Parts: sequence; C-alpha cells; structure tokens
Amino acid sequence: MRALIVEDHPVLAAQLKAAVADAGFVADCASGGEEALFLGETEAYDVVILDLGLPEVDGLSILTRWRATGRAMPVLILTARDGWSDKVAGLNAGADDYLTKPFNLPELIARLRALVRRAHGHAQPVITLGAVGIDTTTQQVTLAGAPVRLTALEYRLLAYLALRSGAVVSKTELTEHLYAQDFDRDSNTLEVIIARLRKKLGEGRIETLRGQGYRLSR
Ligand code: CA
Repeated sequence: MRALIVEDHPVLAAQLKAAVADAGFVADCASGGEEALFLGETEAYDVVILDLGLPEVDGLSILTRWRATGRAMPVLILTARDGWSDKVAGLNAGADDYLTKPFNLPELIARLRALVRRAHGHAQPVITLGAVGIDTTTQQVTLAGAPVRLTALEYRLLAYLALRSGAVVSKTELTEHLYAQDFDRDSNTLEVIIARLRKKLGEGRIETLRGQGYRLSR
C-alpha cells in the first residue's frame, strides 16, 4: 500500500512518514501545494493524508482539482481547522475522512486502514483466503493458523493482492502500489518477491497470468 503525505511542517511530515511505514505503507511526502497536486494526479496512491494550510495551493483546492479530474483515492484531511463548517466543506469537497490536530497516531492509522479497506470493498480487517489469513491491523500473516514471517515488502505485496483478491493485478499496478516514488523500481524484484511468497505460502496461491499479471484466489 502506498500513501501520499501532504504536510508542510517538516517534523510532522517525518513523524507521519515513520508512522505509516510502521503500519505497512510506503509513503511519498509533498510539502507544497504544487507538488501535492502533481503527485496526486500522476502517481497511484491507496490513501492520502492532506493538510489544508499549505504554501502555493491550499488543501481544499487540491482536493477539488483531484476530484474534478477523476482522482478517486481515499483522502483524509488532517488539519488544525476544527470548526464544523470546515469539516463540512472538506467532506463536501470530496474528502473521505477528517481528523483535527492535535491527534493521536494510532487513531490516524486506524482511520487510514479503514479507508483503504473500504475502498477495496472489505469490511473485515482480517482477510481470509483459504488457509491464508492476513490481519491488516497487526500485519500478521498466518498459514493454516501458524504465523508466517514476511519482510515489509513481501507483506505489502501480499496485502495489496489480498485487497484486490480475485482480480488480475498487472505488474505495473503492483509496482505503483509497492514502491515509493524515489525507489529504484525493477520488475525482476517483483518476480523475486512473488517467488519468495510462493515459497512461504505454498505454490498455487498466487497465480501468474501470462502477459497480464498476478491473481490471488479468493
Ligand atoms: Ca500546514
């Protein structure tokens, strides 16, 4: 899962990046409105944390532009503006959630997870696919009830395929949702991770559809 953090306060941005990384997300950060607009229009994110008071372009205008151009990723507004009319304006501009500063990191993370889950049509925090269980709140994976140890990247890949279970996910889509913008992407790396996951979870769970991508059976 990949998040965009739009926050002009450098210390808070770094804290948010670390917290979402602990939660199993990889994140890009934008400190100005122009950069945020550009990233949100060109990159694939599973969720966005959006500050409202920003240099160049304010958060509400960014959100309005994204929605007008068909960008549908879940957006949580994180701001010090705590008036009810600010919340109404944010939600009416297309935000999916609204949290006011000061806030608690566990609450923010829980809200982000709920947004990602719902965006993919899952109500349950634990995704069960045959003998494989993926707890998206603890990032614990089990096979027939026994814990399976995965690296952060392996977990991200499996969790993304699980959220999209039953669908064919192209290599391009996987790559876009697994790696941060500054990461050196390499399609071979993806194949290596899939091979390691198959070794840990058993052959046949992750199907390869030649020329199309991968599918995790329901
Ligand atoms: Ca700000």
